[in-house]
This record gives sequence, structure tokens and C-alpha cells, in this order.
Amino acid sequence: MSELMARISRCRRQAKSLEPNADGRTRYRNAVVDYCDGFLNRLPDRPAYIQPGQELDVASISEQPMPVEKVLELFRSNIEDQGLCTVSGKFLGYIPPGGVYLSALGDYLAAVTNEFAGDPSVCPGAVQMERELLRWMMDIVGYPEAGLGILTSGGSLATLSAVVTAREAHKLTPGHHAKAVVYATGHTHHCLRKALHVAGMGGCVQKLVPMDACYRMDADALERMIEEDRGNGLYPWLLVGTAGTTDLGSIDPLEKLADIAVRDKLWFHVDGAYGGFFALCNSIRGKFSGIELADSVVMDPHKAMYTPYGLGALLVRNGELLYRAHVHTANYLQDSVEHGGGVAPFDLGIELTRHFRGPRLWLPLKVYGAAPFRAALEEKLLLARFAWERLNEMEGFETGPCPELSVVAFRYIPSSGQADAFNKRLLESLRKKGTIFLSSTIIDGRYMLRLAILSLRTHLETVELAIKLICDHVAELEPGISTNTAN
Ligand SMILES: *Cc1c(COP(=O)(O)O)cnc(C)c1O
Repeated sequence: MSELMARISRCRRQAKSLEPNADGRTRYRNAVVDYCDGFLNRLPDRPAYIQPGQELDVASISEQPMPVEKVLELFRSNIEDQGLCTVSGKFLGYIPPGGVYLSALGDYLAAVTNEFAGDPSVCPGAVQMERELLRWMMDIVGYPEAGLGILTSGGSLATLSAVVTAREAHKLTPGHHAKAVVYATGHTHHCLRKALHVAGMGGCVQKLVPMDACYRMDADALERMIEEDRGNGLYPWLLVGTAGTTDLGSIDPLEKLADIAVRDKLWFHVDGAYGGFFALCNSIRGKFSGIELADSVVMDPHKAMYTPYGLGALLVRNGELLYRAHVHTANYLQDSVEHGGGVAPFDLGIELTRHFRGPRLWLPLKVYGAAPFRAALEEKLLLARFAWERLNEMEGFETGPCPELSVVAFRYIPSSGQADAFNKRLLESLRKKGTIFLSSTIIDGRYMLRLAILSLRTHLETVELAIKLICDHVAELEPGISTNTAN
């Protein structure tokens, strides 16, 4: 017995460093907080992108301890000092995220307390917090009391749950798949195709509905396609509208799509991963009308609500359907089932144990209220409008449609040679310099650059700098041409 005691006590001694005392906690916390403060102080001068050149050495994991300062140095040289800085205001590519400091502190709160937000009988308050956040989003959308939702790791996972809910609501079995039709556009996010594939529905009929000149789904064409498909013995099942496409920020005509979906009994899903929170902006609220009739909606707080990566949301108008599509039980969960407290989040999604996601959104929303978020989004809308107008006025530039949200597509038409090749070189040249970071896409077969204005830290001077740099690099690539930046 004493041999056993001795071993227990030896193990305990060896594991002791895992639980520092108050002094130890202060030391570690200060080291990390000091590092983060340094990061934020360096941020304004850091290029959005640093070409990863130097050899990576995050040091291998071994039995040996390493002082926290040394570990943070490895973090700096390997992670901070290389590649893309997503929280830089000069990150203007893809869909820029993150940046609210209180959101990071919310994550700290969540990680230290590590509440289990999957089950109201375990931590009712944590579940209530998530419910309130989801209720707030459902109010933005205009959902009735019967709505339910789930916080996910992002839009892709939320879309997977939406597809599964739509499948179960229509009682589709594998035998139906070959006749079940999904309607989307060429600008629908590819997470839809991925979700269908993962849900075992990759074999359903996936149709692309034509778009209008502003890259919004053509509702009349949709109607004709549905009618024709029905005539051909197919089963129109799922209609996916987008409130803010990734490429251009276009918003499909949601009201018309909702009417068609209701009349033709399709499941109507709206992808608002990027654009959904713009419904907070009074200036464009009307564009979202009809979203309240969607059967399901996806919104990503880790985009337009500026939380760190890892927060999406799925909202389902008839919450019962979300529940029925995900509920499963097990013996080891019997105590929870008997306890009550309303629907358990783990019965509304794919995950059982998951990140306590509420505080990263709840803390900033409670402390600041929603108004500053609305103002930040209005600012981005106006900045995008400003950038589009400037680029439009400038000699040699061609722009995409006037932005409905905050993405501006453009390209430069060189005096000679291929425009696609020129703009590829322009993007390369901007990335090499790194001060700002743009991304590209293909619109109607044309290579276009994208100025995606969403970062919390992107302001008027950032957009002016971006336009100036774009012109400088054009001039460098096309000597003899003077691009006029003055307005
Ligand atoms: C980003 C995005 C997604 C995917 O969401 P993730 O959070 O990256 O998984 C889906 N749809 C649209 C329109 C997006 O912009």
C-alpha cells in the first residue's frame, strides 16, 4: 500500500506545474498579456502580409519545459512575423474578420470557467446566454418565437446542419436523392456543395439559377426551372439564397425567393454568413426583407461581429425541425434528459462537447450594446461605396457592380497585353510589398481583384492608402502610364 501511496505522490509532484499558484498565474498572465499588448501596439505598422520566407521553427514538443517568455518569442517569430495578419485593418482580401478586444477577453473568461453550454441541467446560465444571443440574431432576422438556433464553429458547419435539417424536414431518404433538386447560383458559397456531399446528398440534382446584371439570383428564371423540373418528374427540394455573396456582396431578391419557396414548398435557406449582420444597418434593411420567411439562416459572428475565428450560427424558423434532425440519446446522458430546462443545445447540433462560445459575443455586446457594431457596419458600407466611386473615376480601371455591401471588385485594363495576366501580376506585386492584402476571383471568366472592406480597423485613410498603393503598383508595372489618383 505504501508503495502505491509513494507512486501517487510522485506523480502528483511531477504534475504540479500544471496548476500554478496565484503568483505563478500572475507571471504567466502578465507574459501573455504583455505579448498581446505588444502585438496590438505593433499592429498599425505591421504590413498586412509578410511573405513567409524564414525557416519555421516552433520547436518540437519534448519532455523538457521551456520558459514562457521563450515560448512567446517562438510565437512571435514563427506566427506573428510571417504570413497574413487577419486582424490588420489593411487586410482587404477574402472576408476580413476579428479584432474586438473584449471578445478575446470573453474567450479567456470562457476558457477559464470552461462551462458546458450543451446542457441546461449542467450549466443553465451558459445555455441561457447562448439562447439570448441566438434570440437576438433571430430578432434581427425577424423570426417568430418558435425559432431555435445553435452556435457553431463557423458558417460551413452551420450550413451542414441546415442541409441535414432540410433533408429530414422533407423526409428525404437515399432513394429520393437522385430526384431532389437544389437551386443556387454560380456565386453561392462552395460550403453548400461541401455540406451536401458530407450529408450524403452529393448525388442530388444541383442546379445553377441564372443571375441578373448585379449577380443576384433571377427569380423569374428560378420559377421557370422549378416548373420544368416538376414537369420532368423531379422533386424541387432546397432553395439557397445568399444575403451577401463572398465574391461581390450581392444580396439575392429574398422576398421573391421566399414567395416562390412558400408556394412551391421548397426549403428556403439563406446564407448570411458574411452579410447577415448588415441587416442591423437601417440604410439597407429593406434588402433583407423576406429573410424572415427563410426556413433557415446562417450568420457568422466571426465575420461581421468581429469575434475571433470559430463562431457561426444557424437559425431555424421552426425550431422543432432543427431538434428532430439532430436529437440522439445515450445511456450516459439519461440524467440530463430527466432534468428538463428546455431543449439542450447538444440536441440542436452536431457537437456534444464544444467550445463555450457565448462569452466572446456576449461580453462585447453587453458592455458596448449593439449600437457601435451597427455603426461600424454602416461605416464599411460607406467606405465600400467610396472606394467603388474612386476606382470608377480613375483612368484605366474597370469596376464590378456598385457594391450592395462592402466588397468592391475591380481590375486594371492595361494599354497592351492581357488584362487577366496584368492583374495577376498586380496582385502578386501588392502581396510582395505586403502593406495591404487583397484577394482575387473570377467573375464571368474575367480575373478580378477584390477590395473587401469589413475589418474593424479599416477606415477612410486605410482605403485611401489602398487606392494609392494600387495606383503606384499599376504605374510600376506599366511604365509611362500616369494613373490619376486625384479626384
Ligand atoms: C465565409 C462564408 C461561408 C463559410 O463560412 P465559414 O465560417 O468560413 O465556414 C459561407 N458563406 C458565405 C457567404 C461566406 O462568406
